[in-house]
Amino acid sequence: MSTKQKVIIVGSGIGGLVCGAILAKEGYDVLVLERNKQIGGCLQIFVRDKLIFNSSVHYIGGLEKGQNLYKVFKYLDIIDQLEMHKLDDVAFDKIIFNNDEKEYHYAQGYDNFVSTLVQDFPEEEQAILKYVEAIQLACESFPLYNLQESDDYNLASEFSEIDTQTFIASLTNNIRLQNVLAGNNILYAGIGNKTPFSVHALVLNSYIESAWTFKKGSGQIAKLLAKVITNNGGEIKKRCDVLKLVDIDGKIQYAETKDGKKYTADFFISNVHPSQTMQMVESTTIRNVYKNRLKSLENSVSVFVLYISLKPNTYLHSNSNYYYFEENDAWNSIDYEESKWPLSYGLFYSKCNKNPKYAESVTIMTYMKYSEVEEWQHTYNTVTTSQERGDSYAQFKENKKNKLLQTIYKKFPDIEDSIQSCYISTPLSYRDYMGTDDGSIYGVVKDYKDPIRTYISPVTKLPNLFLTGQNIKLHGILGVTISSIVCCSTLLGIKNLLQKIEDAQ
Ligand SMILES: Cc1cc2nc3c(=O)[nH]c(=O)nc-3n(C[C@H](O)[C@H](O)[C@H](O)COP(=O)(O)OP(=O)(O)OC[C@H]3O[C@@H](n4cnc5c(N)ncnc54)[C@H](O)[C@@H]3O)c2cc1C
Repeated sequence: MSTKQKVIIVGSGIGGLVCGAILAKEGYDVLVLERNKQIGGCLQIFVRDKLIFNSSVHYIGGLEKGQNLYKVFKYLDIIDQLEMHKLDDVAFDKIIFNNDEKEYHYAQGYDNFVSTLVQDFPEEEQAILKYVEAIQLACESFPLYNLQESDDYNLASEFSEIDTQTFIASLTNNIRLQNVLAGNNILYAGIGNKTPFSVHALVLNSYIESAWTFKKGSGQIAKLLAKVITNNGGEIKKRCDVLKLVDIDGKIQYAETKDGKKYTADFFISNVHPSQTMQMVESTTIRNVYKNRLKSLENSVSVFVLYISLKPNTYLHSNSNYYYFEENDAWNSIDYEESKWPLSYGLFYSKCNKNPKYAESVTIMTYMKYSEVEEWQHTYNTVTTSQERGDSYAQFKENKKNKLLQTIYKKFPDIEDSIQSCYISTPLSYRDYMGTDDGSIYGVVKDYKDPIRTYISPVTKLPNLFLTGQNIKLHGILGVTISSIVCCSTLLGIKNLLQKIEDAQ
């Protein structure tokens, strides 16, 4: 019989897999229970027209030697096997506006980032310098982000107590520059008067340091982490929908799945949204006040994603991502009026590996409120239930696709003749494939007015139940990896874990 302590992890998103990989490596007996037939959560991929499409994640930062994500992936021994390519050094992101011919570029490396923007805004050099200084200070004020020890896991600093829009406006009166600096805010579903500047800074910093996209899809991260788990004696069970986490005598004793199986362990980590986790927990130890607090937290908006497969060798590849705004305001597209949709989008290219001059596919992501698909919310498309949503839903998707394409053609007119096929995800697709209630992209909305309430601790009132994932601290591949370190440190000790990461470099 194994003498190892057993940990059950519910969910195999990046949060569950990083926790699983760390704990398996450090001697725990890990079992991951995943409800889907594919592991990875938002890292999932799908194949159409023989092309790999990323369901969600398009690019990640911090992967250059010595940077934070590199260090964790090096410790987990997956860095050398990841097949990534670096986005354009002088323009990893391009910010574009309707009725403005100019493209505004974000360059990699702080010096390049500043000098590129100063070329476009020569009068604004001081403001741009202040902006990057603030980003770096905000990142320094969260030591764990830099894999440095801290006794405060919260993102509490002066940069958490001001919203991003106000902070940027305090640096410059130049409206175009303000909106350019907020240009990729779909990466954190930025709400102008709400999103703390610290969130903007932590996300932006990682890409300014280095920005990478996948050669063979985002699913490779999930596969490599799964290997670390199984190579260290752990196990991942797919199609295991956990319905209950049952507390006996003040501790979770077992997880029960939809098919009635019970899995016992010493510790349990949930990678599922905290509010849904609390719905699973059958316990008198956790009070309704706590459950209701989590339930009352606002979730971020959802998205409509258009995946376009291109006719081979017809459409030139671009090694940059594009962020488009229909109006001059980078903040007004999240709370759109339906008649004006879409007010913004992010556009991501996928390079043809055989003929890298050309793109093989393009993915476009734009905000969509869950309320737009509520009419069909009683229909599900999951591993166990696939229900036809009917003609009205097909028509809804077709109309939205056409509206989005018309907006795209304004800046990318040549793409029209290169389209082979289009595929679509709506908030319902995200709800069903990620197992969330409302297809929310990044989970709980962070609010500068109440930063502590919206940063959820990995520790719960039950001594052997912990939380991981994008709702704990920060979203995104880097954010969730850091959240997983915070979660695992509750079992391993933060000093010990950070030392192991450092020793692996
Ligand atoms: C459209 C989109 C684009 C994005 N683009 C980027 C990007 O370019 N770069 C970036 O860094 N980040 C990006 N993100 C954010 C990033 O993908 C997420 O923050 C991160 O992957 C979330 O990981 P997670 O582990 O918290 O949760 P998830 O990935 O949601 O994983 C949760 C897992 O739990 C499983 N699960 C749920 N309920 C149960 C249950 N009852 N029993 C068992 N298993 C269960 C789910 O099936 C899922 O596998 C994007 C997100 C979206 C939606």
